Formats: sequence, C-alpha cells, structure tokens
Amino acid sequence: MRAQTHHGGQWQDAASGATITVKDPYTGEIAGSVPSLGEAEIRAAIAAAEKAFPRWSRTPNRERGVLLRRWLDLIERHKEDLAQLITLENGKPLKEARAEIAYGSGFIELYAEEATRIMGEIIPPNMPGRRLMAEREPIGVCVAITPWNFPMAMLTRKIAPALAAGCTMVCKPASETPLTALALAVLAEEAGIPAGVLSVVTSEPALFGDIVTASSVVRKITFTGSTRVGAILMSASGPTIKRLSLELGGNAPLLVFDDADLDLAIETAMVAKFRNGGQSCIAANRIYVQRGIYEDFLAAFQKRVAALKVGDGFDPETDIGPLISRRAVEKVEAHLDDALAGGARLIAGGKSDGSLLSPATLLRDVAPNALLAREETFGPLAGVIPFGSYEQGIAMANDTPFGLAAYLCSSRQETIARASRDLETGMIGINTGLISTASAPFGGVKQSGIGREGSKHGIDEYLNYKYLCHAGL
Ligand code: ADP
Repeated sequence: MRAQTHHGGQWQDAASGATITVKDPYTGEIAGSVPSLGEAEIRAAIAAAEKAFPRWSRTPNRERGVLLRRWLDLIERHKEDLAQLITLENGKPLKEARAEIAYGSGFIELYAEEATRIMGEIIPPNMPGRRLMAEREPIGVCVAITPWNFPMAMLTRKIAPALAAGCTMVCKPASETPLTALALAVLAEEAGIPAGVLSVVTSEPALFGDIVTASSVVRKITFTGSTRVGAILMSASGPTIKRLSLELGGNAPLLVFDDADLDLAIETAMVAKFRNGGQSCIAANRIYVQRGIYEDFLAAFQKRVAALKVGDGFDPETDIGPLISRRAVEKVEAHLDDALAGGARLIAGGKSDGSLLSPATLLRDVAPNALLAREETFGPLAGVIPFGSYEQGIAMANDTPFGLAAYLCSSRQETIARASRDLETGMIGINTGLISTASAPFGGVKQSGIGREGSKHGIDEYLNYKYLCHAGL
C-alpha cells in the first residue's frame, strides 16, 4: 500500500509531517494514513500539471488513448486488490466494490477510444475568399474533487475524459477514501502516463479548495459531492472565471403507478434504494406509490427489505456494509425519528446498535413533507408515501430544488411517456433502478449540478472550441 501522495512524478510525504488517518468503517480500526499536504505542496502539484500540459496536449490523440488503455489493463490485472481496498476504506460489500471497478473501468475504455474521435468543424464561409474552422483544444490544467461513496469510479469518470482530451489533472479524493485513489495513481505511473499529467494529492479539503479555486493556472474544476460544497467551489471560482462541472445532491423520487408490474417495481425499488447501502447521489430517496397498488407493493417490499443482511463488507453474505461515519448514521436516524413523529409506521429494520451498521429500514405512510422527502438520507432507510392522481405524484416528485435522477414504474406506454416528459431531472430509470453506465450522459438539472459525465458528450467538458477565420484566400 502506498501511503504517500503522488504529484509531478514524485511520491511524497507532507513536509510538515501531517497525516490524514483512514479508518475501516466496519472494524473502526486504522486502515492506513496518507499525507496532509500543505499550501506549497498543493501549489507544486498544480505547477507540475502546468508544466506537463504543453507536451501532453500535443501528444497524438491515439497515443493518449493507448496510455489510457494500458492503465485500464493494469487496473484489470489488479482488480481484486483494488476491490479489497475499496471495501477496506469504504465498507461496501466486495461484490459491490467489484461492480464499481467494472463500472469505473468503462469510462477509461470509452475515453481511450473517444480520444481518437475529437473532431473539429469546417464551416461554410460567410464571404468569398475565406475559410472558417473550429478546432477543438483541451482546456488546460483541471482539478477533480471526488467523494467517498465510489472511491474509484468517481475518479475514472473525470480522469479518463480529461486525459483523453489532452488536459492534465490534479485530483483530490475524499479524506475517507484516499487509498484507492493512490493505488490508481501507482497504476497510472506504471502504465507510463507521464509525470505531472495525473497527480493525486491528499490534504485538508478547504485548504485545497481555496488554493485551486483562486489559482489562475487551474482552468477547470470538476466536482462530485454535496450541493453545499459545490456552491462554495462555484462562488470561489467566480473571480477566476473557471469552467465547472458539478455533480451534486440528488434527492431522487421513485414513482410506482397503479399499472406497474409489481415484481419489476419491487426490483426497481430494491436497487434504486439499497445499492451501495443507499449512499449514492442517485439513490431513490422518496418512494411514492399510487393507492391502487400501495398495499401489495408494501407487503412484497417489506419481505425483501427484511431479508437484507447488514454487516462486514468482506463477508460474501453481506448486502449492505457499514455507513461511512457516525455523522451518516445520525442523519439516517434523524430522518427516521422525524418520519415517525410525522405519523409514519416502521415495518422493517430500525436503529443502529451503536456501530456504523445501519439496518435496512422500511417506513410506510410517510408524510409528504417529512425530512426524508426533502433531504438526501444517504443510507438504507426507505420511506414510502402514498399518492392518488398522476398529477399529484408528479407534483410531489418535482417539489424539490434537486433534479438528478428519478425512477418510474409503469407498464403503460402513455404513463411512461408522460412522466418521462414531466419529471424535472437529468436522468430517468423506467422500470429499473440500475441506470449508471459509462456510455450514457450522467448529470442533473436544477441544483443537482452542471455538465454531463460519461458518453461521447463527457469529453466536451474538457475541450474548448477555437475558431479560426482564414481570410485572403
Ligand atoms: P460528502 O458529504 O459526501 O462527504 P462533500 O461535498 O463534503 O460530500 O465532499 C465531497 C468532496 O469535497 C470530498 O473530496 C471532500 O473532501 C471535498 N470537500 C469538502 N469541503 C471542501 C471545500 N471547502 N473545498 C474543497 N473541497 C471540499
């Protein structure tokens, strides 16, 4: 395990000797420690990225793609070790860690190819004797700030398009899960990605945020995390007019209409709510079920929720690992208490036993204005709210400042088409809770963010157009 940070081709400890301790959330034991870099070291990482940019941006696209491909091959070769590292520092079950690596690898595979398809345009001239062209060029030095819930995939979906486009990048992983990020940096170095092109630094978050937002060398920040921190980064980036990609809070609704296939609706709810223990920005946070199917849905859902096993991520029987922190457990329990106080009934699960294990929990008859319908719970607590008409369901689903993902279950084409149009979100799962794939554009509307990651469009976030007007021909 590498417990130094990597920038400018150097592996380093913090000059101050300061460290960040990483804990195994299941055992509570120390899993490792990484340097907490200071201002001069963060600036050195940015300077290394600036120095590496001219050469990397002029490296033929195909060669950049080949290097990404080599990185992917090494990740594939070490995927079991990486999965263990993810489970160690994040707590998620090994099977989910493996699934994350497959998902995260998809971005590298995609953008290794997209690197060769970055095309400009030749535009019909506006007057005789002219040739108009629009070239595409990389933005420059980019910074990525990522959360702990997907320690690998949140990084690869930023690094792969940035490097494919010809940008250089300084990444700061979440303090809870820096080990996976550093392992990825080891493999990138081994793959031959040149010094300074990709750096992974670990530091106190606000210090890093202050330095990178104020830096005029940093041309772009790509961030996945809370809306609160996204807003801080956005306003701090104002004076230096940075490009931003923000993937923020979700508060996703799931709408189950009377005409839904019950089995499909249960499967959708299970995946949309409990994948990653509910610790996902696209997790179904509010489950609205139409009255005609309400009791049948609850009876079947209760059985499935009650059967979920919460425990050690390394145990193959485990469905849900520990939550990431005490604060996370407290938030889930505050949502539970608030819903109960508002008249909801507990029909599966309950509170944590004092550890970070939060039981898979189901509440019925939750009031529409409960906290769990307004804020992201980020844990394995499902609250079901009944609704009457189509219009009422859609109105409740849209009654939020967020707009990342939504899910709907129906077997009528008309309901599906109407709801797909009426839901104000960037993504919709129709009869499925599993929507994430590298090949589709991921992102939100409203306060859920700016920009898209994944798909052929994801690379646009790291490119500018340069217009050339050639006269006198
Ligand atoms: P979460 O609540 O999921 O931890 P955060 O938005 O707090 O979400 O964290 C997401 C990422 O943002 C992490 O890498 C975290 O260290 C980082 N972060 C937190 N505060 C700041 C800040 N003020 N400036 C820059 N990055 C920050």
